Amino acid sequence: METILVLAHTEPDGKLAKPAREALTAALAQNGDVTVGLVGAVVQPGADQIAGCGAARFLAVAGEAFAQPRYATDASAAEALCRAADAKLVIAAGTSRWARALAGVALRLGGRIDTHVTGLALQNGTPAATRWFYRQRMEATLTRTQRPWVILLDPGCWPEWNGPAGTANVDLLDMPEVATSTTVTGTRAPKAGEQTIRPDARLLFVAGAGWTKKQADGTVHGAEAESLILGFLGKAQASLGGSKSLVDQSGEGEAVLRFMTHLNQVGQTGSTPRHPKGLATCCHGEEPHVVGWRFVNQRRAINLDANCGWARGKADVVYVADAFEVMRHLNRLL
Ligand SMILES: Cc1cc2nc3c(=O)[nH]c(=O)nc-3n(C[C@H](O)[C@H](O)[C@H](O)COP(=O)(O)OP(=O)(O)OC[C@H]3O[C@@H](n4cnc5c(N)ncnc54)[C@H](O)[C@@H]3O)c2cc1C
Repeated sequence: METILVLAHTEPDGKLAKPAREALTAALAQNGDVTVGLVGAVVQPGADQIAGCGAARFLAVAGEAFAQPRYATDASAAEALCRAADAKLVIAAGTSRWARALAGVALRLGGRIDTHVTGLALQNGTPAATRWFYRQRMEATLTRTQRPWVILLDPGCWPEWNGPAGTANVDLLDMPEVATSTTVTGTRAPKAGEQTIRPDARLLFVAGAGWTKKQADGTVHGAEAESLILGFLGKAQASLGGSKSLVDQSGEGEAVLRFMTHLNQVGQTGSTPRHPKGLATCCHGEEPHVVGWRFVNQRRAINLDANCGWARGKADVVYVADAFEVMRHLNRLL
């Protein structure tokens, strides 16, 4: 039996986002009493949202100083919550905010931390964490004897807790004065005028360099490529991925899709997103790219070349076709 603390930071509206509720699901499946520890400017709406989860206690650190993600305040709040809960197992979503603060908290508590955990099972009564190594090529399951053990969960690996809301009794901790000399002065988003990365989308749409290559008529159709891809993303609410060749072109002064940035890159030196389905277009399906598709369950590709990498066992379905034509038709249907 472990004393388990689920750490969650609230959003600007005081509520808990999906990754936090996923972490709650993971914690409730463990063997032990669960305490919820909340951090934020306002925490009551988040506590009420999960009031029916069966947690033994709700603790919180609240106040304006804890509204912004900031190492000093987040680490102090998390440390205070871990001590108040006497937590042996600390489970939190791997958000950028927790990823920045919790390694330091583990050190302060004399504990250990594991990040990017994708599975948490009970092995002979003790928790065993699963994570991937070497760019998702090897999977390991590990246990630890040190406590507290802080575990950061990759979002998208557990169902979000969605039980009844209610009114939670929250114990607010008194915090000593904490350093707030670092201030967030604003948010700088990628230049893309559109939101193209949607981690929760059911479909990942990947564009490859073929969209910017000369087509059968001997010319490049960059403008049409842009409108077909953006049209599809808008209608299907898909997330946009790109091959390295395509995202690199912006640095090489070639015809580019203006909304594509390095954040969209999928693959060995890019991201490994999680989506139920993926559609690759004008992308060759080379191994350094396809290794980023590890967590895409159903894969389809459109390529003019019947010998492309996708056709060699990397996709479930390959349409040997002109992607411009297919996407034009698909957008019409949508
Ligand atoms: C160390 C290392 C790390 C790497 N990391 C990554 C990574 O993280 N991500 C990544 O993507 N790559 C990575 N690469 C590069 C990778 O090996 C490939 O070079 C890259 O993925 C190729 O991109 P592409 O398929 O878009 O372009 P291309 O290879 O140029 O393929 C374009 C494809 O478009 C098709 N096409 C053209 N017109 C049409 C049309 N009208 N309809 C349908 N199909 C059409 C062509 O048939 C062709 O197959 C890495 C390479 C190395 C060495």
